[in-house]
Amino acid sequence: MSLSPLVTSRAELADRLAAVRREGKSIGLVPTMGALHEGHLSLVDASRRDCDFTVVTIFVNPTQFGPDEDFRRYPRTLEADLTLLAKRSADLIFAPPTDDIYRPGHGTRVAVGAVAEPWEGRIRPGHFDGVATIVLKLFHLVPADRAYFGQKDYQQTLVIRRMAADLDVPIEIKICPIVREADGLAMSSRNAYLSPAERVQAAALSRSLRLARQLVVEGVRDASAIQSRMASVLGEAGIDHIDYVALVDPDTLAELPEITGPTVALVAARVGTTRLIDNEILRP
Ligand code: AMP
Repeated sequence: MSLSPLVTSRAELADRLAAVRREGKSIGLVPTMGALHEGHLSLVDASRRDCDFTVVTIFVNPTQFGPDEDFRRYPRTLEADLTLLAKRSADLIFAPPTDDIYRPGHGTRVAVGAVAEPWEGRIRPGHFDGVATIVLKLFHLVPADRAYFGQKDYQQTLVIRRMAADLDVPIEIKICPIVREADGLAMSSRNAYLSPAERVQAAALSRSLRLARQLVVEGVRDASAIQSRMASVLGEAGIDHIDYVALVDPDTLAELPEITGPTVALVAARVGTTRLIDNEILRP
């Protein structure tokens, strides 16, 4: 009898993974909040290439949402997600109930430090504590060989790498490229919130990043000149709520005045009520 790929209880998860381990198989973990798109599925593909057994987790993690954020309305599309994951041959999907992950009395939060403080950390206080907490819990629940994350959430990748290194997590962290729509918009579950007009505006984020790359290719090295051109692209598209446009050190996220080596261009803006982020690694 073949086992259902969907598992909702921690006990069954532990049993199933113990059996996988007994067979000597390597395990890949892909943590998600569901509402899956090709960005998520690219992580599944990467895990399937590297590992014998791929576990996808689907859990909308309440502790990473601020009180005024979209936890309640975040898209939840489990049936469609399971269909997509069956097509991509994920081996096991762990979709636990919230109160089985945060059980009565839960009090611990993982605070990662400096790399979690600027940019998203400043605008979404507590967000990265929530991310680090859930990812560490998932690392314990799914003792994988490798775990897959998207460069789409650039600062998050640094937070997770820092947490895993600091807390001696024996899981290799793999970062996969950003998957984009045809017009460049980075795929995101939150794109579903955009009206047709906002969807057109949203393409300006990736356009601003392409412009930054182009300017660096042309030899521009002054970060503030690049930033202001990026902001103009957003402004011309009618995006008037920019959280930040920044050129930063890829490891520390400190702002750089001049492009002298690999630099990450970060952009975060609100399109209507939807907050979008994107980034690109610039190499002079
Ligand atoms: P989320 O469900 O938004 O928490 O995302 C789960 C994982 O998918 C995270 O590691 C994200 O960085 C990654 N991800 C989300 N969007 C994309 C994308 N467009 N390309 C690549 N990875 C992505």
